[in-house]
Amino acid sequence: MSKFIFITGGVVSSLGKGISGASIGKLLQLRGLKVNMIKCDPYINIDPGTLSPYQHGEVFVTADGAEADLDLGTYERFLDVPMTKKNTNTTGTIYQAVIDRERRGDYNGVTVQVVPHITNEIKSRFIPFEKDFDVTIIEIGGTVGDIEGLPFLEATRQFKTERGRENVLNIHATLIPYIASAAELKTKPTQHSVNKLREIGIDPDILICRTEYPMPKGMKDKLSLFCSVAPEAVIEARDVSSIYQLPENFEKQGLTDLILKRLGLKAKKKNDGKWFRFINKATGTAGKKQINIGIVGKYAELKDAYKSIAESINLAGMSNNAEVKIKYVNTEKDAIPQSLKGLNGMIVPGGFGKRGIEGKIKAVKYARENKIPFLGICLGMQCAVIEAARNLAKLLEADSCEFAPKPKYPVISMMEEQKQVKNLGGTMRLGNYEAKLKKGSLAEKLYKKSVIHERHRHRYEFNTDYVPVLKKRGIEVSGWHKNLLPEIVERKDHPYFIGVQFHPEFASRPMKPHPLFDGLIKAALKKVA
Ligand code: GLN
Repeated sequence: MSKFIFITGGVVSSLGKGISGASIGKLLQLRGLKVNMIKCDPYINIDPGTLSPYQHGEVFVTADGAEADLDLGTYERFLDVPMTKKNTNTTGTIYQAVIDRERRGDYNGVTVQVVPHITNEIKSRFIPFEKDFDVTIIEIGGTVGDIEGLPFLEATRQFKTERGRENVLNIHATLIPYIASAAELKTKPTQHSVNKLREIGIDPDILICRTEYPMPKGMKDKLSLFCSVAPEAVIEARDVSSIYQLPENFEKQGLTDLILKRLGLKAKKKNDGKWFRFINKATGTAGKKQINIGIVGKYAELKDAYKSIAESINLAGMSNNAEVKIKYVNTEKDAIPQSLKGLNGMIVPGGFGKRGIEGKIKAVKYARENKIPFLGICLGMQCAVIEAARNLAKLLEADSCEFAPKPKYPVISMMEEQKQVKNLGGTMRLGNYEAKLKKGSLAEKLYKKSVIHERHRHRYEFNTDYVPVLKKRGIEVSGWHKNLLPEIVERKDHPYFIGVQFHPEFASRPMKPHPLFDGLIKAALKKVA
């Protein structure tokens, strides 16, 4: 039977609850326990798939095809446990399940209510991993005090009563703001936030206090006194230069032992410190070559839109002893190619819609002609195909059917074969699909295998009618799904030029960088040798 840890947030959003939860999960894993994590998002959308990146940042895609919150990416990267549809819940999916049941007449004529029907449905979403994992960590999105989060908190309260305090731990993550004019850190917002949580019937066992500066002596005791939490259970979460340093900070404050004790869990092994040592070395700058990698897309000012890509670049840099600077280039506003000068490698990321496309195509041309290591992801690969068609094959009106209703040369289109595949998966090709790699290709060299499975999230494909003509111009398909759909294109006349129809960025881990990002960083390092 699993033990449960709930993480709630107080005072403000964006406190890094997901990172704190994942850090705790990592620490328990390093003691030999099996840990899984679940996200509950109080918004009403069924999933973030339809949300603008401005609202929500990137959409994380799971191997089984869920479109989920970017926190699931943090969970996967920290825990290396594959996330699934069961790891993500929203108010939308919960109400939908209850309403569907009501329409089928399953409630036998009773009045369907938030308590107990919605809360029962929520509680059923807390337990899918209880048989196979020692600990399930559940992050409740939003901030305590939000109206929409209430049913989740009520379900949490009930769950703790049902399962007993020895099986359920409540961790509350709050902010300790720094007031510059008084040069002081303040505990009052945390006190209020804990009170708010108590009103709902939840007493936190542990406080995680996000702070810009070290908490002065005595502040932990003060918080303990006012919030009724043991002093050793007040944990400082000071800002760190890399999120991967957080687990060690928590460990040093005794958090792992405290959690094990409170939940009556026994560690299955000692933490051998290997993970900490890797992170410490990898996040330092001593003796490292500096490289500049560009993310050339349309949400340059919105870093969360490319979260997993940025993490993948960082993780590949960490494994290659490189200090990587990421430059975000906006293909709508920035001058292309002028703003690409000085880049040692570049990524054209995925995206939807026509905005910024012409800048992306110009960026691909610049990377191709100037032999800048290039990785095109999904839309980025499609831009590489359009670029080659227009500039090399002289199909000047080549375009994607996504951007032009009936282009003269629809090099990117929705294909009959794909429609068959697509019908199995809804409106988009979502989640893992197999690809076979061509012998001797760059892709095969990077992956060191001939069959791969990667995550997809797109509607359009490289139109196979144009594969032969573009092959003559150096764009070769080196990965196929069932001999029907091109998955990877590459160029032999270039040090590193590869475009993929899928999203490799969701599969990077510390110590296990994704082969395509690893290859990009290695090629970029050669540029500065
Ligand atoms: N808009 C493109 C498509 O739907 C690419 C999607 C993406 O980059 N994720 O095919």
